[in-house]
Amino acid sequence: MKTFASSADLAEKEQTLEIVGDGVYALTAEGDPNVGAIEGEDFLVCVEAMATPVAARAWLDRLREHTGKPVRYLVLSHYHAVRVLGASAFGAQVIVAHENTRALIAERGRQDWESELARMPRLFRDPASVPGLTWPGLTFSDRLTIQLGGGRGELVLAYCGLGHTEGDIVAWLPAQRILFAGDLVEARAALYTGDAYHREWASATLDAVAALDARSLIGGRGAVCHGRDAVQGAIGQTRDFLATMLREVGAVHAADGTLKDAFAAAHAALAPRYGRWPIFEHCMPFNVARLWDELSGVRRPAIWTAERDRAVWDELAD
Ligand SMILES: [Zn+2]
Repeated sequence: MKTFASSADLAEKEQTLEIVGDGVYALTAEGDPNVGAIEGEDFLVCVEAMATPVAARAWLDRLREHTGKPVRYLVLSHYHAVRVLGASAFGAQVIVAHENTRALIAERGRQDWESELARMPRLFRDPASVPGLTWPGLTFSDRLTIQLGGGRGELVLAYCGLGHTEGDIVAWLPAQRILFAGDLVEARAALYTGDAYHREWASATLDAVAALDARSLIGGRGAVCHGRDAVQGAIGQTRDFLATMLREVGAVHAADGTLKDAFAAAHAALAPRYGRWPIFEHCMPFNVARLWDELSGVRRPAIWTAERDRAVWDELAD
């Protein structure tokens, strides 16, 4: 049997801080979750919080080599634990997220914390440093604009529809055409779709992301995409991954096959193109289990608990 999720992935990844545009920073890490920061006139907007305050402090130490401005806003693209539980390290005045993200934290934040800790222990550097769940203090439903001041233009936080979760948002800098896409787009990293709405994500939601016509894109994982072709390429890969899953799992479901058959079909179809990308093997059992539910008419993703994680893993990943 394969080792559970990413529990055996213990080798540190190399983190790269990249200046994507004037006052725009991204920290990527060979497929680990990306984070970023945007300078306003006299404040910072940080994007994503990492899994623990100790992990976040290492990122902030690197950011402080470039700017000493205080963090006014911490933007969370969605509710997943590895993106939000480091929030206390930022000392942000305001934590911003979609209203559905706040509701998901209330509904399933505890279970998700436990689930993600067991799946990805390496990302939870000093797990005891997490003081509790992260609660966004400012939420919105459609769009929220932050004026950066000092001729820096604006930062637009936008909801593009159901996707990787019920509450993903993107952070868009129209003047520089730079997009922080969260987990709605991955760049040469596998998709996690265990909490997703595959059909909406693969169609209207990615259409809305693509329509922004970004020139640089920071996805949830993987390297920064530079240039229109690379940006559209990453969006296209994300869409292809989803479309392949919908086709393969959908065919088995329609033929009254089994979940195990659906897993085998989706894995076989995706592995040639995506099998070597980060977290592919880790994600696939959870992805197929969710899509199977979705095709069976289960509208909202079932809550992942540590116990359910193990049950699905044991059924599909051996
Ligand atoms: Zn996520």
